[in-house]
Amino acid sequence: MEILVAKSAGFCFGVKRAINMAQECANKRKGEIHTLGPIIHNPQVVKELEHSHIIPKRGLEEIGGGTVIIRSHGITLQETEMIQDKGLEMIDATCPFVKKSQEIVALLSREGYSIIVVGEKEHPEVKGILSYGDGDIMIAASIDELKDMPMKKKIGIVAQTTQQIKNLKEIVSYCLEKTTELRVFNTICNATTIRQSESYELAKEVDCIVVVGGKNSANTNRLADMCREIQPRTYHVEVASELDPAWFDGASKVSVTAGASTPDWLIDEVVSFIKAVGEKRDKYVNVKQP
Ligand code: SF4
Repeated sequence: MEILVAKSAGFCFGVKRAINMAQECANKRKGEIHTLGPIIHNPQVVKELEHSHIIPKRGLEEIGGGTVIIRSHGITLQETEMIQDKGLEMIDATCPFVKKSQEIVALLSREGYSIIVVGEKEHPEVKGILSYGDGDIMIAASIDELKDMPMKKKIGIVAQTTQQIKNLKEIVSYCLEKTTELRVFNTICNATTIRQSESYELAKEVDCIVVVGGKNSANTNRLADMCREIQPRTYHVEVASELDPAWFDGASKVSVTAGASTPDWLIDEVVSFIKAVGEKRDKYVNVKQP
């Protein structure tokens, strides 16, 4: 069995940076260290960091003192202000690309644009970006959510960094008919685009594809959905123990890809498992053949 591992699989720049900052903080600082929500959307990495006494908390009300590390996809402006008001130490590991989206929204607001953030309402990154704007600002995951939008004087658009370009294009084209002035910032992150297009090509080529990453990770879920559209034998797992050898029955080419928040060691474990399944099967086939 041939196993093709996506070249881009695994940690992106922003996640690597956040994890390094967290580890450095654990090495240097004494006292309590917290993250506001999980630092990245991967439960296994969050558990590892807990061994270094970096503890995720759901809200600021749960944090009485010490240091707060800001996760890679950022927090809201109000939360930042609360951290300062509480006198907590803050290590800002917000990815610079997410920071840029926050700054663009603030700029568009100052310049009086009606703003559309293309993304998922409940995603913390989107909530954070939204908090930097005021006035006429809304979130839309698709054009269906903009159906009854009236004409606007001028519209500014930014996107959640993990959105699919196709989605952004649809919304941009819809908004062209809703205003005479449209300003678009393509804030979709390159790391996401590269992972998506590479996985898309692999899904066309193989008999089965395994997507490794947190079930709570938006970019991993989107990767899995995209692969499934082309290859019905797409399986999304967090860890190797979730794999079922039967998934690879009759498959001669298998691909492994992973979201931007998946560490190499989890990918390696999945690859080793599939390799072992293939070797066992090939050995059996060789014995059976005359
Ligand atoms: S996917 Fe892009 S925006 Fe998100 S953390 Fe990684 S580098 Fe930053």
